[in-house]
Amino acid sequence: MNQLARAATALAASGILLATTACGTSSTGAGAGSEGDRLKVVTAFYPLQYVAEQVAGDRAEITTLTAPGSEPHDLELTAKQVASLSSADVVIYQKGFQASVDKAVDQAQPKNVVDVSTVVPLAASSEAGEHEHEHEGESAEEHAGHDHGGTDPHVWLDPQNMVKISQAVSSRLSEVDAEHAATFKTQSEGLTAQLTQLDKSFEDGLKTCQRKEFITSHAAFGYLAKAYGLTQIGISGLAAESDPSPARIAEVQKLAKEHGVTTIFYETLVSPAHAKAIAGDLKLKTDVLDPLEGITDQSKGDDYISVQRANLTALQTANGCK
Ligand SMILES: [Zn+2]
Repeated sequence: MNQLARAATALAASGILLATTACGTSSTGAGAGSEGDRLKVVTAFYPLQYVAEQVAGDRAEITTLTAPGSEPHDLELTAKQVASLSSADVVIYQKGFQASVDKAVDQAQPKNVVDVSTVVPLAASSEAGEHEHEHEGESAEEHAGHDHGGTDPHVWLDPQNMVKISQAVSSRLSEVDAEHAATFKTQSEGLTAQLTQLDKSFEDGLKTCQRKEFITSHAAFGYLAKAYGLTQIGISGLAAESDPSPARIAEVQKLAKEHGVTTIFYETLVSPAHAKAIAGDLKLKTDVLDPLEGITDQSKGDDYISVQRANLTALQTANGCK
């Protein structure tokens, strides 16, 4: 059992315990604020789950619509999952990222939602740190796996955006469960401190590098690139059917030579075939840069912070940073 599963089991066990306690002490059937009666929070995908877990702690029972190891954009919801949105106390999602979730939220009309796209402004996919050589219109089409109509959904890869999401989640939870507002505030501040430290590590760690450009199979790192002065060169989108054209592969190889790139990045949830083919031709290294769309046994860490730290190390190595 991996650590996440262990944590989930522990959480579930403590839930049973709390529920039992609630039955014993509260026969009046009070609302969400009563002792031991935890909030039901549904999150759409991993980084939002992470924020909810950190901010709510054991005050909430958290479920996530995207199973670990599956691509969030491929998500299809079961009838049970759609129903879970109606009974949830809070739903945390990002409108414009997962069409099936948007539709289910419209249908289920949950009592309280946090829509991340209203918390962090989404950048157009062409402006979020994309390489200037990128063809107009290409990225939206190539990234067709995501249903995000020309905007880049990957806001969570910038730790400062995660701070904003954490604050929004904290204030929404506090409205719904006012009795525990102080707990949510403290836990949100704890998460903010960790994220701020992570942000500083990125800033310091990527300040003095031999090159700014990095090449990755999935152009998910636009917000991260922009935040730390890097330039992302995306090979293609991540959907299996959107293979890069031979012309695009040739162009990426030309850019790799031009910028002295050492490493072609791929990600854990997607086949590294194209990255490896490009790297092999040029005798370059390959390494993982994780867009944090899910944590699996293959992840280089067991939570958002540790995987981001692994991403930082990978970027520093590839780009010759001091
Ligand atoms: Zn993505």
